Amino acid sequence: MRSLININLDLKKLILFLAISVTIITFLNSFYSSYQVQKQQLQSQTLINHNAYAAKLVSVTDRFLLSAQQQLAYSAKIIESHFNDRNILAQEADRLRLQTDSFNSIVIVDNQGLVLGLSPMSLQLEGETLQSYGAKQALSNKKAMISEPYMSAAGNLIISISHPLFDRNSNYIGYVCGTLYLKKSSILHDLLQVHFHKDGSYLFVVDKNRRLLYHPDVSRIGEQVYNNSVIEAVLKGESGTQEIINSQGTAILAGYASLKSAPWGIVTQRSISSTLVPLDGLMLNVLYRTIPVGFATFILIWVFAQLISQPLRRLAETAKKLDNPAASQDLKLVRSWYYESSELRLAMLKGVGLLQNQIGVLRHEAQTDPLTGLHNRRSLERMLDQLIFNRTSFTVLAVDIDFFKQVNDEFGHDIGDIVLQSLAKVVLDVTRESDFVARTGGEEFIIILPSTTGESAYLLAERLRMRVSETIIEPVGCINISIGISGWPLNQLNVEEVLKQADQALYKAKKSGRNRCIVDSQLTHSE
Ligand code: GH3
Ligand code: MG
Ligand code: MG
Repeated sequence: MRSLININLDLKKLILFLAISVTIITFLNSFYSSYQVQKQQLQSQTLINHNAYAAKLVSVTDRFLLSAQQQLAYSAKIIESHFNDRNILAQEADRLRLQTDSFNSIVIVDNQGLVLGLSPMSLQLEGETLQSYGAKQALSNKKAMISEPYMSAAGNLIISISHPLFDRNSNYIGYVCGTLYLKKSSILHDLLQVHFHKDGSYLFVVDKNRRLLYHPDVSRIGEQVYNNSVIEAVLKGESGTQEIINSQGTAILAGYASLKSAPWGIVTQRSISSTLVPLDGLMLNVLYRTIPVGFATFILIWVFAQLISQPLRRLAETAKKLDNPAASQDLKLVRSWYYESSELRLAMLKGVGLLQNQIGVLRHEAQTDPLTGLHNRRSLERMLDQLIFNRTSFTVLAVDIDFFKQVNDEFGHDIGDIVLQSLAKVVLDVTRESDFVARTGGEEFIIILPSTTGESAYLLAERLRMRVSETIIEPVGCINISIGISGWPLNQLNVEEVLKQADQALYKAKKSGRNRCIVDSQLTHSE
């Protein structure tokens, strides 16, 4: 189970991960939405603008065509009344071309297509019979018209605006016509080019045969364009906007409108990519402006992750060493500032209190003699280790009750125990706080006197022996004890040796009559 837990993953990392991912997702989402909204707005604004632009150009072009037709109509009156006067026809042709600037050339023909008047003369068509498509159309229609594009006799791609001529008896006698060059500079070019945008927008004009009458790419003028839904719509006489993919595969925003005076449509358009160019800068700006707040948010998240995770982390670290006596102190120092951590800390404090108590009780029991409450042999060994480790000199008193067997025999084992307890009290009374008293077995006691000379130890042993012999223990009366004394350090003796010497001194005391204290001879000599 443990191996499944990734211990590198802690609360702080989790909070950071959660908060940062939520922040990033939110940011990306709002960035994306704002991009989409701006894009939508730019596109729909562009469509609206282009539609308005196309409508405006249509109205300008309509007015131009109307005025061109009116000029021809006026001129027709003059021509009709001087139809046989070539000079006047030539003058009128020049006047029409030069005075109004509406046409590239002017031609006056009779009802057979014979050129009677011409401007400019450089066209060298005088006396010729026109065979062009436009000329034939004008002759057969016999009314005011705007031609489809066609190749003129002089080799120019043109459209012509013509007005019929009639004699006094209303017989058709020919027409006067003004031409507009489609591929060369003309007033139509000037009209449309004035409005030409510098931002990647462009426009084109198509006639009812889907033929380009105007296009910024002059080489395309005259080309027929099929499968273009905008052209189809504008040729139906509609006005509006469309988003399309053009023949080059480019996404295009188009506005369109159709003319009233001719079966033409004007389309103004712009590629979506050029429309969206300002958006890149805009979004970059948004990004730059977001960075400081984003950075501040990150710092805030980091600080909060730290604040939230810290109490739990410290609680978790303390939980690893609850048996340590410092655990409850560590727990008290944890700043658990919110509900869960505070409850956890309280619960852990309670638990640690109980645990430490339990450990204390167990430790005490493990080191204490249950009958007298004095230290036991294990505790004695630890005490000696401590003294040796600290290189503290000490003397040892081995105490044994004289004829204790008789006490047991006479008064019973329970009374014997009471005697042992009473003796323990007297020993504790006579010794100092810093002395160490242990019951090491039966009715034998070991007293350790740290930093005490043999002489002082002997004096204390004597004082103890006297006190014991004077103490009345009911119902036994007074008892006597014998004491053997040795000391450490003594000629590099180890501890067992020192205890053994104390025992030997005790043995000597017993041998030499009991109720006495004997100091080990080596201790006496060393002092
Ligand atoms: P000596 O003067 O030579 O020391 O004589 P003694 O009778 O005291 O001899 P010894 O020290 O060998 O006797 C130990 C006796 O202590 C044996 C046993 O009856 C008694 N004893 C040992 N442990 C306990 C105990 O826990 N309670 C009681 N009541 N008696 C104990
Ligand atoms: Mg004994
Ligand atoms: Mg004894």
